Amino acid sequence: MSNIMETDSTYVADTYARFPVVIQGGHGSVAFGEDGREYIDLGSGIAVNVFGYSDEAWVKAVSDQLHRVQHTSNLYYTGPCADLAKELCERTGMKKVFFCNSGAEANECAIKAARRYGELKHGKGCSTIITLKDSFHGRTLTTLSATGQDHFHELFQPLTPGFVYAEGNDLGSVKQLIETNDVCGVMIETVQGEGGVNVMTPDFVKGVRALCDEHDLIMIIDEVQTGNGRTGSLYSFQEYGILPDVATTAKGLGGGLPIGAAMLSEKLQDIFHPGDNGSTFGGNPAVAAGALCVLKRIDEDCLAAVKEKSKLIFDTLEGQAGVKSIRGLGLMIGIEPEYRSAKEIASGCLKNGVLVLTAGKNRVRLLPALNIPEADLMKALEVLKKEFAKKEGNA
Ligand SMILES: *Cc1c(COP(=O)(O)O)cnc(C)c1O
Repeated sequence: MSNIMETDSTYVADTYARFPVVIQGGHGSVAFGEDGREYIDLGSGIAVNVFGYSDEAWVKAVSDQLHRVQHTSNLYYTGPCADLAKELCERTGMKKVFFCNSGAEANECAIKAARRYGELKHGKGCSTIITLKDSFHGRTLTTLSATGQDHFHELFQPLTPGFVYAEGNDLGSVKQLIETNDVCGVMIETVQGEGGVNVMTPDFVKGVRALCDEHDLIMIIDEVQTGNGRTGSLYSFQEYGILPDVATTAKGLGGGLPIGAAMLSEKLQDIFHPGDNGSTFGGNPAVAAGALCVLKRIDEDCLAAVKEKSKLIFDTLEGQAGVKSIRGLGLMIGIEPEYRSAKEIASGCLKNGVLVLTAGKNRVRLLPALNIPEADLMKALEVLKKEFAKKEGNA
């Protein structure tokens, strides 16, 4: 074992099952291991490094800002924070943005907004939020509670009350929960990432929008993983042709630095007042400058390339030996193996120089950088094909 792995295992809290590789550098979609090997990265730090490792324009945007001012408190204004909020609103139709540092925190803000709205519009006690089974919304006690997977709930009781769980792609089950609870909002992922890359149908997503309109509920879309170009639109709700009341995002927005954002629609733009929410680092100017650089480059050309590469992945893997099913949207793809487990395949890929992720329901999950060069992608897909075709070994 390398020294770094040994020190990490000794001193870092044991909350991750790490792959046995130390990444000490990278360029584009290639990670450099301490072992001297190169790895084609189809995970991009879980949908974070949208333009790969050490992307020059992003590094310049962040470091230029670092030379000006790295941080001030939210008691003062800074340019990058204001500009980023403007860009997000102009590109989505949302009206206001709350900045924080992670997806979980952005979802906390969305939940607060929905509960405030519920109480103001429908009275005290109108606080229940419907989420979906197999969803994932974060690791704080409230977002764990929002996460519709029992095994996340067991260890940390009591969780925040006020969440009930509907079946994905089943409008009837959403409707039934609206009728039997004092509901203020519905929160969904359009494509469930951690839960197995489960794609919600346009009928379902539009149906949830219609139900929320009918009952005056807040529709929240968790775009933490689907956002920032991942699905072939800047935000996936644009792919579905609807506007939620809150869209949360994080992961890819910062291009590699921590940021979270809750975007509020017209209906919620005045829901918060000074003191209602806050975050020391929220809207940090260096992170925001990087995020603005990332957003500006997720343009029509970039999104068209995402769709092309998505098609390439589907065309290459569909019907291959050992591939039971493949699903997803854009460059968020889940593949169900026929023979070995997703974990075994991920380990096999690593041994052959390719980094992939797994997701719930035994899926191999691909979240490559939006600008992954086609040559790297094709090379990695050859490795994947071989690993899926293997019937045993490489455990
Ligand atoms: C990763 C993720 C989160 C949590 O984000 P953190 O930044 O880890 O708090 C929430 N929702 C979805 C859909 C995610 O994929």
